[in-house]
Amino acid sequence: MRLLIVTPICLLVNTCLLYQPNKFLRESSIAIAACLAGLMQLYLEINRSQAASAFVQMTVLAVVLFINIVMRLRFPYAFTASAVMLIGDVIFLWNDRMLSQADKTYGLSLSICAVIITLMATYSSCREERLNYLLHLRGEMLVIDLNRLNAQLLRRSESDALTGLANRHSFDAQYADLWKKTLIEGTALSVIIVDVDFFKRLNDRYGHLYGDEVLKRIGSLLQQALRVKDDFAARFGGEEFVILLPATHETAAIQVAERLRKMVELAGFPALDPSQGPYDMSIRATVSCGVATAYPITGDIPERLLEAADKALYQAKAEGRNRVCSAPQTTRSKIV
Ligand code: GH3
Ligand code: MG
Ligand code: MG
Repeated sequence: MRLLIVTPICLLVNTCLLYQPNKFLRESSIAIAACLAGLMQLYLEINRSQAASAFVQMTVLAVVLFINIVMRLRFPYAFTASAVMLIGDVIFLWNDRMLSQADKTYGLSLSICAVIITLMATYSSCREERLNYLLHLRGEMLVIDLNRLNAQLLRRSESDALTGLANRHSFDAQYADLWKKTLIEGTALSVIIVDVDFFKRLNDRYGHLYGDEVLKRIGSLLQQALRVKDDFAARFGGEEFVILLPATHETAAIQVAERLRKMVELAGFPALDPSQGPYDMSIRATVSCGVATAYPITGDIPERLLEAADKALYQAKAEGRNRVCSAPQTTRSKIV
């Protein structure tokens, strides 16, 4: 019976465990196999001899220790399997004719003690496991929170609080990266510097808060005027913005600047608070744009391109504002 029933079942359970079955299957199959081995032993040894009846009590202890301490089954499984073994022992002792009443009482109390002590150990290890799991979960949640806060801080350190665009610091980093990339790819890089016209006058007429609203509006128009993926817009400082257009030729860059200029002319004027009085049509939010394009080669100085765009901006201002000017052909043929 041991060889043909218990051993194959135990081997089957052992093989099953190699395939990492789910929790229910794993725990219940171990409990069933261990109980089966123990109960079979009780069945085989009953009424054989006094020594066999006494020693078979050790089987109950061994099974209970195996389930509760070695395999550390979860409490419900450990409890059920221990109860089954205890009931089996009671039935065995009830039907046994070899042991005296005193020996039976001694054997049963030993089994009960073993069950209680090992179940207590199982319970406390399950509790500890649950606590550890909760602590682990809390740790993971703290890490998630920390990552979120870090990302938030990073976003804030890289963006301008008023317009939400990238700030000067992140523009510098992006410009350096883009310059290198353009150098490797051998494509064009265009820059547009945008400056609000007579912004001081607008501030003086409608107040700084309204001036801020105008900057916000221009910031959002700027984003709308660009390609979402490749182009990059930043607040350069004060009422100046800068746009980077990778792989864009001068003609296309001028078109983008012109589109932006028109958008500001049409929509760069947020609604006024009635207390600020009527619109003064002579004070409108418009922008001037300076455009420059480069085909960087090794040895070029990146700042040259920004200087060229700045010069073009001054030209636009000098020619009457609310217009787009592109950098004149420069000495080094890379800036066209
Ligand atoms: P121009 O057409 O020559 O560019 O004239 P401008 O008045 O725009 O240029 P100027 O440099 O004389 O004035 C820029 C003004 O922009 C001065 C400053 O008060 C204002 N300004 C700069 N940053 C901010 C800001 O964050 N909010 C507001 N409301 N105003 C700002
Ligand atoms: Mg300015
Ligand atoms: Mg200005």
